[in-house]
This record gives sequence, structure tokens and C-alpha cells, in this order.
Amino acid sequence: MWSALRLAQKVGAGLGEREILLPTLSRHLDLDRSDAAAGNVMSVLRIILGDQLSFDMSALAGLDPARDIVLMMEVMEENTYVWHHKQKIVLVLSAMRHFASELRQRGISVDYVPLDAPNNSGNLTAEIQRAVARHAPDCLVVTEPGEWRVQAMVEGWEDMIGRPVEVRADDRFFAGRSRFAQWAQGRRAWRMEHFYREMRREHSILMEGDRPAGGEWNFDAANRKSLPASVLPPDRLRFAPDETTREVLLLVEQHFSDNFGGLEEFGWPVNRADALRALGEFIAKGLPRFGDYQDAMKAGAPFLFHALLAPALNLGLLSPREVCRAAEAAWRSGAAPLNAVEGFVRQILGWREYVRGVYWTLMPAYEQRNALKATRKLPAFYWTGDTPMRCLREVIGGTARYAYSHHIQRLMVTGNFALLVGVAPREIERWYLAVYADAFEWVEMPNTLGMAVFADGGQMASKPYAASGAYIDRMSDFCPGCAYDVKQKTGPNACPFNYLYWAFLIRQKNRLANNPRLAMPYRTLARWPSERQTAILAEADDFLERLR
Ligand SMILES: Cc1cc2nc3c(=O)[nH]c(=O)nc-3n(C[C@H](O)[C@H](O)[C@H](O)COP(=O)(O)OP(=O)(O)OC[C@H]3O[C@@H](n4cnc5c(N)ncnc54)[C@H](O)[C@@H]3O)c2cc1C
Ligand code: SF4
Repeated sequence: MWSALRLAQKVGAGLGEREILLPTLSRHLDLDRSDAAAGNVMSVLRIILGDQLSFDMSALAGLDPARDIVLMMEVMEENTYVWHHKQKIVLVLSAMRHFASELRQRGISVDYVPLDAPNNSGNLTAEIQRAVARHAPDCLVVTEPGEWRVQAMVEGWEDMIGRPVEVRADDRFFAGRSRFAQWAQGRRAWRMEHFYREMRREHSILMEGDRPAGGEWNFDAANRKSLPASVLPPDRLRFAPDETTREVLLLVEQHFSDNFGGLEEFGWPVNRADALRALGEFIAKGLPRFGDYQDAMKAGAPFLFHALLAPALNLGLLSPREVCRAAEAAWRSGAAPLNAVEGFVRQILGWREYVRGVYWTLMPAYEQRNALKATRKLPAFYWTGDTPMRCLREVIGGTARYAYSHHIQRLMVTGNFALLVGVAPREIERWYLAVYADAFEWVEMPNTLGMAVFADGGQMASKPYAASGAYIDRMSDFCPGCAYDVKQKTGPNACPFNYLYWAFLIRQKNRLANNPRLAMPYRTLARWPSERQTAILAEADDFLERLR
């Protein structure tokens, strides 16, 4: 009888370019034993999911081009589980098609199931079943999926097909799932900063011996400038759609014409060569000022000095290691200042890895968290941008047009508003998952539940990111052109963020007043006469009653 370990050794006996990981338990070995006894090498069906588009995927390690087949599937279920922005669908499908063609160019057999293939069943599990019937592989190999929902499917495959399914770790990340769990174990509070410093040391990034480069771990204080009119951000590098992307654009217009967002501005990199160009462009033109203007917002300029690399990173076209190393090299060669490079590395080696750890450690219960008991439906203008509040109009308009907005727009405009008016966490979470080209649940959910709407009660962030209009006014040029007056605290022309902010703090007093990071606003509130608080609540109620 074949043991699971022996099976894994056989599977790994192909190209042998990387070490193979231990197999998962194989409970239903259904192999032709005489064949196995004769020492024949087994055929392996290797699954590549839509966000695993890298030659370095663990699922491809040890691939034998003579016997193995790579299976890639476009299925309707993955394109409809939320109302994805059209650009996101084009991006994923086009990048998948490009990657399949690159695999073929390397002499690898790819069984590619297009979305409109006649017998496409529309879901991953049924497509696996059909592919097993077509190829009769001895076993399946897949890299652990990025989302809990898909992992639950993968866990059912072995029973379903009656053959071993080996699930390998996704080693594209600095910290694997177990590394994060090890870090988190026994800690009362998880803080990104602590995790990030450990990652800096462990991976020797921006270190001078055992000390942080420049003597500081954190340059955030230097990275909160508003943007002067004299500073002009670089143009966005757009990639003109090639023939493959043009085909997908047509397909998406055919099948998803009612979905959110426009396709006119599509210009995302869809293959590794273009992703590398985008990285080079950012390092040369964006990175030097990334730190200074990281939190700034400007009307009509959604990109500023941001990298626009999240879609390529999340799909696997770029690796977080090479991106951090490129940024560090720019600092070491004097091409970018340390505050910019540290600020950038912190986003990837710090936040990106940290949110993934939070996701995998706390799912599936995490998605149900609602610490502030918020129940409101998502306001309709999140889909249309039709609101007199200029900040929201700008950010939602940019989101529809580009499938992009930068972090502070997400956190402090759309997220802040959802927090202040009490949108149910699941409603706003599904919106963020739908509307951005870079949206994948493992990164989007903790950012939404943990950072934007504080639904996890402080597991991820030490305080809710609630702010009044003054913050938006300081960091952007939105307010001068708005129908509301950011300087007015109450009254029909007052900026709604102002009274909504104070009403939020008053209503959430029992839950938040003990948070040391909110001590200052609660001290201010305590000085207000009760009539002032009552007037603020009445103003907020009036606004909320009209909010649809
Ligand atoms: C409510 C909300 C939802 C979000 N949803 C997503 C999402 O679905 N997918 C996603 O990749 N990011 C998400 N983010 C994080 C961040 O906003 C985006 O990564 C960033 O805006 C992408 O643009 P950029 O590539 O120009 O990033 P830059 O600002 O140039 O940052 C560089 C890189 O750092 C990483 N990064 C930066 N901030 C974060 C963060 N908070 N968490 C994880 N990685 C980060 C990204 O890979 C990004 O490409 C979300 C943030 C918020 C507040
Ligand atoms: S005045 Fe208020 S609503 Fe208008 S743009 Fe400024 S912060 Fe937004």
C-alpha cells in the first residue's frame, strides 16, 4: 500500500527545482497499485487559481512537463459572489490567460477552461470533477487558496474525487500562516508595529546589523503632509490592452454589462513583464515622495505618489520580497529617502502580512464581528457617487472610473463615513470586496472590519479611525468646492462629518470612552453642556433619517 509520504516523494520527482512540502493526509488513495509497484511515475493535475499567477507557486514545484497538466478555470461563481467592478473581472481573467500562455511557452500542458466554454459548469468544484474525468490523474496538487470560502471547497475535493489532494503552503508571503499564528499565540493584544519589527529583523530588511536603518523603526510622523499645489504627482503608467485583454474586455461587456464601474480607464498590468515595468516606474517616480504625501488627497488626482501595485502583488505577478528589496535598493543607492522607503516597506512587510495573519487566524468567526452593533444598510450613493458631499463624491467617482482609490481615501472618507453612520460591517465589507481591482478577501476583510469600521473591537487597530471634517479638510482640497461648510459644526450647511463624528462618540460612549487613544475627544465632550450634546444628536438623527 502506498503511503501518503511516498506519494509525495513521487509527486516531487519531476523537475525537482524546489523542495516539496509535506503532503496533507491522503485518505482515499485510489491508485493502480500494479502500476505503482512497477515504479511508474504518477501523473499530477496541478491547480492554479486566479490569484496564483507565478512560476514560483508551490503547486508548480517539481512539475514534470512530460506527465503533469496544469488546470486553470474561469468560473461564473468566482465572478459573481460579489458584484465585482468590471475592471477587476477583466484584470483577473486577462492575467490568467496571459499566465496560461506563458506556461505553454515553457512547454507545460495547460488545460484552460474559459468562462464561455460550452460545458463550463460555473464552479470550481464541478470543474475539478470534470477535469479529473478528462485526465484521470493519480493525484491533485494545489497551493492553499487565499480565501477561506475557497479553502472550504478545496477541503472537500479529496472525498469527492477519490484521489489524494496535496495542499501546499503559499510561500509567496514573508510570514506563512503558521509563522503568524506562532507570533500571535499568547499575546493579549496584537499590534502591527510589534509584528513588523520582528519581520524586519527576521528578513533583514532596512536593517543595519541588529538596529533599524537610520536608528528609527518608524517614520510615520514625517509622512503626513498635505499636498501643496506646487507639487505635481507623476502620470499614471497605463498599459494599453493587448489582443488578449481586448477579448476579455468584450467578454466582460457581454456578461457583466450591469456591473459596477467603467472599463474606459482600464490600464492595469496583466502579465509579469508589465508588472515589472510598473514596479520600476514607481521606484523611479513615485517612491521618493511616497512618504511625504502618503496620506494626502487631491480632487481629480486619485493616484498621487502611490504604487498602484496591489493588484499585481495580489495576483502573484510580483512578489512582496522583490518589491521590498527594490525599494530598499533605491534607498541604499540614494534614489529615495528613508522616510519614503520605510513607509512603503511598512505597508507590505508590515500591514499586508499582518492582515493576512489576522484573516487566517480569526476566520471564519471574524466575518461576523460587529463590536459596535452597527445595522444600517449601505447608502445607495456608494454605488452612484450621487451625493452633495464632495469628498465622498470624489472618492466614489474615482473608484467607479479606475477601480482604485488610495488607502486614506478608503479609510478616512468612505470607511470613516460608514463608521460614523453605523453601516453594518458585512454591508460595507462586501462593497470594498466588490469595487477595487486589488480586492481579495484575505486583505480586504481585516482592513474593513478591523481598521475602517472597528467591527473587531480593537483586535487589529488600537482605536477606531473616526474623524470629523477637519481631518479631511487638512489632508485634501475637497472642502472648498463642497456644498457644505467644513467650518460649521451644526446647522443646514454644516459639514455632516462634524456632527456625525460627535454623535458617534456620544452614542458609543459605553464602548469607547475607556480607550486611552480617545481620551482627548472624550475629555472635550465631558466639558460640553448636555444641551449641546442633545443638539448634536438631533442634527445627526435628522441627517440619518434622510440617508437612503
Ligand atoms: C477599507 C479598506 C479596504 C482595503 N481593501 C484592500 C484590498 O482589498 N486589497 C488590497 O490589496 N489592499 C486593500 N486595502 C489596503 C490599501 O488601501 C491598498 O493596498 C492600497 O490602497 C493599494 O494601492 P497601492 O498599490 O497604490 O498602494 P500603496 O499605498 O502604494 O502601498 C503599497 C503597497 O502596500 C500594500 N498595502 C498598503 N496598505 C495596506 C494595508 N492596509 N493592508 C494590506 N496591504 C497594504 C499594498 O500591497 C500596496 O500595493 C484596503 C484598505 C482599506 C482601508
Ligand atoms: S465639507 Fe465635509 S462633506 Fe464636504 S468635502 Fe469637506 S469633509 Fe467632505
